[in-house]
Amino acid sequence: MLIKNYKSLKNTIKAIRCRLRRQFYAGCLQSRNLSSHSAVVVAPHPDDEIFGAGGMIAMKREAGVPVRVIFLAEGGGSHSTCCATDYEEVGSIRRQQAVEATACVGLQSDDLTWFNMRDGKIPFDGQYGFNEAVTNLANEFERLKLTEIYCPHPHDGFPDHEAASRIVQHAAQHLKHIHRIIYYTVWACYNTPSPMSKFFDWNTGWLLDIRTVAEKKDAATQRYLNSKPAPCGYPYCGRLPKALVHGVKMPNEIFFDGDVHNE
Ligand SMILES: [Zn+2]
Ligand SMILES: [Zn+2]
Repeated sequence: MLIKNYKSLKNTIKAIRCRLRRQFYAGCLQSRNLSSHSAVVVAPHPDDEIFGAGGMIAMKREAGVPVRVIFLAEGGGSHSTCCATDYEEVGSIRRQQAVEATACVGLQSDDLTWFNMRDGKIPFDGQYGFNEAVTNLANEFERLKLTEIYCPHPHDGFPDHEAASRIVQHAAQHLKHIHRIIYYTVWACYNTPSPMSKFFDWNTGWLLDIRTVAEKKDAATQRYLNSKPAPCGYPYCGRLPKALVHGVKMPNEIFFDGDVHNE
């Protein structure tokens, strides 16, 4: 009982902190106009591309700029503890939701690449599978030859997201074409320990005003959150904190400049 109360108190504090952080940083960061460079978004799981960068994708697509998404995992593990719905089944439903969600922001299924990595097991540097993932991603980047590479921030506060960021950083080092890495965030405001400034260089952060495409991002978000739920009653993407969803629904997105190569 005591432990349960402690957990719920901790979650309440995290939720309040998440909302305050999201509001505060949106108020501090400089707004930037979106570039007309082509882009590839690396998403650890279906939903990350929309939650973190769906407005950016919609704005680029409206301007006729090529955008692609690479999904590292299908996200089959999101119901392993609540209703034990089959991993493959959850993965295939989330994959279908990704096709529908990304269509809302102007992408076709041909614009999506699937790496089929194990959900919850995206490897960090030195772990089994890391080098192979780096090589595969570098090959895909080389094939697509897109200028901006969006991926989760290295301290996004969720293991698969942070591992994905490392894989992208390593893969990008192999590229010959001009490119720049730009980080988006999904879990950071909710999970990163305080002070956030220990992990985030706010001088490199900027804000994108997405109000002109808010309806498109909202439609895409609904595909993930409000489609027919899993047997446990939660969306197939899992049970997400309301405070995190609140951040997804803000009229802006937060990005950080990463490395620029070959310029
Ligand atoms: Zn994710
Ligand atoms: Zn479930």
